[in-house]
Amino acid sequence: MESIKIFAPATVANLSCGYDAMGLALEALGDEMLFTKTNTKGVRISKIYGADLPYEADKNVAGVVAKLLLDDAKVDFGLDIEIWKNFKPGSGLGSSAASGAGAAFAVNQLLGSKYSKLELTKFAMQGEVAACGSAIADNVAACIYGGFVLVRSYDPLDIVSIPTPSDLAVTIIHPQIEIKTEDARKVVPDSIPIKTAVSQWANVGGLISGLYSSNYDLIGASIQDFVVEPQRKLLIPKFDDVKKAALESGALGAGISGSGPSIFALSKGDATAKQVAETMDLVYASTGIDYNIYVSHISKNGTRVL
Ligand code: ADP
Repeated sequence: MESIKIFAPATVANLSCGYDAMGLALEALGDEMLFTKTNTKGVRISKIYGADLPYEADKNVAGVVAKLLLDDAKVDFGLDIEIWKNFKPGSGLGSSAASGAGAAFAVNQLLGSKYSKLELTKFAMQGEVAACGSAIADNVAACIYGGFVLVRSYDPLDIVSIPTPSDLAVTIIHPQIEIKTEDARKVVPDSIPIKTAVSQWANVGGLISGLYSSNYDLIGASIQDFVVEPQRKLLIPKFDDVKKAALESGALGAGISGSGPSIFALSKGDATAKQVAETMDLVYASTGIDYNIYVSHISKNGTRVL
C-alpha cells in the first residue's frame, strides 16, 4: 500500500460524571487525512485545509505521531500528509486527538497493522502532549476504538470499550469562543469531599450499567457531573439555558464536551436529537456569538479507511 485516506472522528471526552475517564466518538463529524509514502525519509505536511495549524511536522500533532511510529518501526520510507480539518481546534471536540489518532491509525495501516489499538493509543497520547502538555487518553482512545470508552487506568494503560445502545444520538453546540486551557484547568478542584466523590462514582457506575443494558432512563439519570461542571460551566455563555432547553426537549442528559466550550446532549432517537438541536439554536440565536450545531450517531468503529 502506497497511500491511504482516512476519517478520524471528533470525540466527546470528559463525559460528564466520567470526567477524565470516559469518552465517545462521533459518526458524522471528523477530519480527513491522506498519507502517502515517499522515498525521502522523514515526515512532510504538504496541505492543511480548514484550520491555521503549523506545517512543521514536529509542531503538528499529526506529524509528531506519524514520526513516532515510523521511528519505532525503523522503516526506510518517509511520509507526505494532507489534512482536512472539518471542525475547529480548541472546540472541546478533540481536534488534536483526531489528528494524532488518525496519524497512528493510518501509519499502522501502511505498516501492515503492526500495532494493537492499545499501542496506537499510546502513540497518539504523545500527540496530546505536543498539543496540550499532558498525555491524556480519553479523546484519542475514543477516536481509535470508536463507541464509548473508559480509561480505567493509566499505569498500566487500560482502555475498556463500552457497548453503544443502538438508538443513542448526540447533539452538539459549539459556541465559537475561546476558553484558555489554563482557565479551564484552574477551575478544576484539587480535592473534593468524599460525599461528592461517592455521588460521582455512583453515576459512573450507573452510566456504564445503562450503556450495557440499553437502559436509556438510567443513562439519562447518570449524566450528572458534581465535580467539574459546576465551575467550568461558568466559562460557557448560556450553559444552564442550553442544558435546560435540551432536557425540556427530551434529551436524556447534557454536559460539557472536553474542556468546552462545546456542550453535548445525548438523546434516544434521531427525532429527539434534532429537536434538541433546534432548541439549542433558539437559545444561542440571540447571543451574538457564532456557533455550529451538529447532530450525530455514535461512531461504531472510530477511525476508518475512506
Ligand atoms: P480541542 O480538544 O478542544 O479540540 P485540542 O486539544 O485539539 O482542542 O487543542 C488544539 C491545540 O493543538 C491547538 O493549540 C493547536 O494549535 C494544536 N495542534 C497542533 N497540531 C494540531 C493538529 N494537527 N490538529 C489540531 N490541533 C493541533
